[in-house]
Amino acid sequence: MGPLSTLLKIQELELVLKESAIVHPGKDLETEELQKQIDELKSQVPERDLRHFERVKKNGLGITQEVDSRCKACHMSIPVGNLSRINNGSDEPKCPSCHVFIFTAEFGEDK
Ligand SMILES: [Zn+2]
Repeated sequence: MGPLSTLLKIQELELVLKESAIVHPGKDLETEELQKQIDELKSQVPERDLRHFERVKKNGLGITQEVDSRCKACHMSIPVGNLSRINNGSDEPKCPSCHVFIFTAEFGEDK
């Protein structure tokens, strides 16, 4: 898995963890297991990417999707030039407006 898919997975699991903490307050086996999975995934993400992810996540999302050239987190449109640079790998996959990690419509096969 590339860092983006890993970050996406981390975000999903953290959401599950948050929900399960609401349903079953306190630590149980399930949350421990989830936390273990999250930590394991985090260890696979480059330090720099993980730090950025944690920082932008404080405002909500750490990673989101591009839909119709818009960022799903801030709903600002992403200039075509930025998108194509993200898609060809010459730019970092981040929203130019809110800086969350972004995976574009072309994202799919992992690089
Ligand atoms: Zn954005």
